[in-house]
Amino acid sequence: MALLRHTTADITVDRQALTINPAKTCQPVGAMYAALGIHGCLPHSHGSQGCCAYHRSALTRHTKEPIAAGTSSFTEGSSVFGGQANLLTAIQNMFSVYEPDVIAVHTTCLSETIGDDMTQIVEKARSEGKVPSGKHVIYCNTPSYVGSHVTGYSNMVFGMVKNLAESTGTKNGKLNIIPGFCEPSDMAEIKRIAEMMGVDANVFPDTSGVLNAPLTGKYEMYPAGGASVADIKSSGDAVGTIGLGRWATAQPAKYLDAEHKVPCEIIGLPFGLEDTDAYVMALAKMSGKPVPASIDFERGQVVDVISDYHQYFHGKRVALAGDPDQLIGLTKLLVELDMIPAYLVSGTPGNKFERAIREIVKGTPAENITKVKCPGDMFILHQWIKQESVDLLIGNTYLKYIARDEDIPLIRHGFPITDRMGHTLFPSVGYKGALRLMEKMLDAILTKRDRDASEAEFELVY
Ligand code: SF4
Repeated sequence: MALLRHTTADITVDRQALTINPAKTCQPVGAMYAALGIHGCLPHSHGSQGCCAYHRSALTRHTKEPIAAGTSSFTEGSSVFGGQANLLTAIQNMFSVYEPDVIAVHTTCLSETIGDDMTQIVEKARSEGKVPSGKHVIYCNTPSYVGSHVTGYSNMVFGMVKNLAESTGTKNGKLNIIPGFCEPSDMAEIKRIAEMMGVDANVFPDTSGVLNAPLTGKYEMYPAGGASVADIKSSGDAVGTIGLGRWATAQPAKYLDAEHKVPCEIIGLPFGLEDTDAYVMALAKMSGKPVPASIDFERGQVVDVISDYHQYFHGKRVALAGDPDQLIGLTKLLVELDMIPAYLVSGTPGNKFERAIREIVKGTPAENITKVKCPGDMFILHQWIKQESVDLLIGNTYLKYIARDEDIPLIRHGFPITDRMGHTLFPSVGYKGALRLMEKMLDAILTKRDRDASEAEFELVY
């Protein structure tokens, strides 16, 4: 990262295959995160110990919680002959020693390159009685030479519904809500809004109460939070599914639609006014419940802040790095504030991302300014900033190097955040989340203004 200090503004090489400082992490990190959103679940990494150690430490550093997970501990032998024997032993040991309700297995680059057949291995574990009665093994494929932590998350949620969802033929009146890749605090807020609407919601995965649990003085391997196996099973009987974020939720939501005839609506992760409105209206439409005054109240507070502080947001140029579902929502919020989303990079592949951003900025002052690269990296972002700077950076902790070198305030958002607290506790989604994002942006902008102001321009009241 320090080498970025020598980044030049001139883009002399058209890089096709080389990524420098990626704006993503590997698929299993997202798969492990999703698995932790099931109550009583022990994730398992089918690969070498090093992979598992990285996935666990990435999540521990972000959440400041101890992340327990198993590994198939590949050695030279399993790397050549396959990891079936290791995984069968692991499943048996984990159920007998740690007693989880579910083991959620994801693959890694190595086991995918060998070609381990997960369906066959898990079937063998079941037929050999290594999965105790009433317990479950779910699995997904997460080779990390494709995709990102977001696709890994999506693959594991797909694994949940594919392995667990059932339909009895009788609808249960519930609404499935699948949050995209977001914080435990965001998942709690998504549930809170559904509760305010009086919707009987089945939210999964749900890492709230698992990865932001209180310190009680007693170690709980399986904290009280998380979606229960029974709830995920019942998702096949729901009256509908709302997927929040196309990249992370379309796959499982469409599977429930196709396999269990549960109609789905896929909308954005609810950042800012427009996408939170869309979430509230989707809840109202699919449940038939009216929007209560308490929701109008919270929305009105967001409109009030926009009105009060618009002059300080207006025209500010912002550079963002992160996940597509999150960046789409954040870009909408910036446009709502008349800010300029100048540069966006995402490491998660998908050609719909640029089209979505172009659609958002169309007809706004940003239309001919916004640059987008997907898949892109933080090196190109830094080069663009060198060419023409911005007023604000939004992205994960790795952006702090650019922030420091270019003297630009950084709003930490996304994954991973390893040097600040708050992301697991305070939501960025919903109307409350919009207020928090605006507070953070305004604080950053005005703090810099105070620092740089001349004596004559140093204001007491904004
Ligand atoms: S990129 Fe592949 S080899 Fe590296 S930690 Fe992730 S799964 Fe393991």
